[in-house]
Amino acid sequence: MKSYRKEIWFDVPGRRGFINITQQVSECLRESGIQEGLCLVNAMHITASVFINDDESGLHNDFERWLEQLAPHEPLSLYQHNLTGEDNGDAHLKRTLMGREVIVAITEGRLDFGPWEQIFYGEFDGRRRKRVLVKIIGSA
Ligand code: ZN
Repeated sequence: MKSYRKEIWFDVPGRRGFINITQQVSECLRESGIQEGLCLVNAMHITASVFINDDESGLHNDFERWLEQLAPHEPLSLYQHNLTGEDNGDAHLKRTLMGREVIVAITEGRLDFGPWEQIFYGEFDGRRRKRVLVKIIGSA
């Protein structure tokens, strides 16, 4: 069995943002040389997500609005977590809603997606460097 590991760094200038990372993950797969196996992609921070969905800007606006309805950033006093002096109580909840990781099957050296599936990094407390782990296992 072959194994591959890589960290991909991001620095989202705003508090929140979605970034399509499908090409970067595909590049990792190409580097790994693995033809059959599994690819795990996970956020290494508890205020960021990795998820799979459509690369459609209206949908991304819908996600943003939906997340703000469920876990609004303000008032900061809404969250017991912010009593620690942080202001990112909402970001922890948003991360939990959108998920920590995805696993994609690898078939014949390619990410074996369903229709329109793309991999995204979801940032909910940006303006600092954060990373995503790509771990690929399988056979060449
Ligand atoms: Zn926090």
